[in-house]
Amino acid sequence: MSKTTAVIEQTEKFGANNYHPLPIVISEAQGVWVTDPEGNKFMDMLSAYSAVNQGHRHPRIIQALKDQAERVTLTSRAFHNDQLGPWYELITKLSRKEMALPMNTGAEAVETAFKAARRWAYDVKGVAEDQAEIIACEGNFHGRTMTAVSLSSDPEYKRGFGPMLPGIKLIPYGDLEALKAAITPNTAAFMMEPIQGEAGIVIPPAGFMKAAKELCEENNVLFISDEIQAGLARTGRMFASEWEGVHPDMYILGKALGGGVFPISCVVADRDVLGVFNPGSHGSTFGGNPLACAVSIASLEVLVDEDLAKRSEDLGNYFKEELQKLDHASIKEVRGRGLFIGLELNEAARPYCEQLKELGLLCKETHDTVIRFAPPLVITKEELDWALERIKKVFA
Ligand code: PLP
Repeated sequence: MSKTTAVIEQTEKFGANNYHPLPIVISEAQGVWVTDPEGNKFMDMLSAYSAVNQGHRHPRIIQALKDQAERVTLTSRAFHNDQLGPWYELITKLSRKEMALPMNTGAEAVETAFKAARRWAYDVKGVAEDQAEIIACEGNFHGRTMTAVSLSSDPEYKRGFGPMLPGIKLIPYGDLEALKAAITPNTAAFMMEPIQGEAGIVIPPAGFMKAAKELCEENNVLFISDEIQAGLARTGRMFASEWEGVHPDMYILGKALGGGVFPISCVVADRDVLGVFNPGSHGSTFGGNPLACAVSIASLEVLVDEDLAKRSEDLGNYFKEELQKLDHASIKEVRGRGLFIGLELNEAARPYCEQLKELGLLCKETHDTVIRFAPPLVITKEELDWALERIKKVFA
């Protein structure tokens, strides 16, 4: 039995069945390339759902991990550590916000934003106790915790997990009139993804985000941008809301914040919003740990110093144009921004992903009919051409 088969059998025997991975085992990775236990090489076109924007095991990030691991890894927040301060300063400077609150996973950062918005509604806006409302969008993906699944419109994400959290309203993604109608004096916040990643790289109508932000301002409602997947250079801008010239009241960040090396997520906002937390109101044992902060500083510096946003925009434009030239009856649409591209089919996408895997290209279907192409942003044009050759073969 091959190592790959043995590992998959073991995984399926002992693991909870909450994922449906392609039948490939990755045992090594560098840059855009991953290797299985038998030594076969594949190009990674998913980047761990955009957590590996800087490429697998970026040398500078790995060095930061090793250096910090030699010093101190965890202090808890009962004490200060010497990496958290510098990280605060860097992330707030990059996002042009006054304060940050670090957590570990994306879903935890969503929880944090949700709690901040509710408390802001009571303490600052003056909403009556337990009456705060949060508006989110149909088709959203904000994670898997109870708050996140309560925000979801997907019955499969919610089935068997009720009762859901109250105080949530959903509007169709990109529908300004629906947002207008949903806002009441009790509305704390409107939360959206600038591009819906898990929904299949869905881009809202041009101008929606800007108009929604203005509407929120007029109604004293916080505008929250969940940029866990679309942010940090993925779409060709450091923050995806920049495409509409929007500076949200709160950013939610995760994934590439730790360069695919160590989990770290956060919420950033100004003092009038994040200032609502006081000691004892929120936290996490691992949130803001020195290892995560050291890794995150290096991960952010790589994004800036290597200008990965510009690289994503330029190569994304090229890649999208090439994909749009494909002439195949099953292709419905190619859409995206930067190297965040969805190829929508008239039929199931999984068999195409399986064929691409046989040719050495790893990507994953999302919402059955969309293939998401989101390679590490350090990819070269030559490597993209290598990928295009394979994609052209599958869609010949
Ligand atoms: N929000 C968005 C927009 C995401 O894409 C994801 C993950 O895919 C999450 C939140 C949840 O992040 P995590 O899986 O780290 O909890």
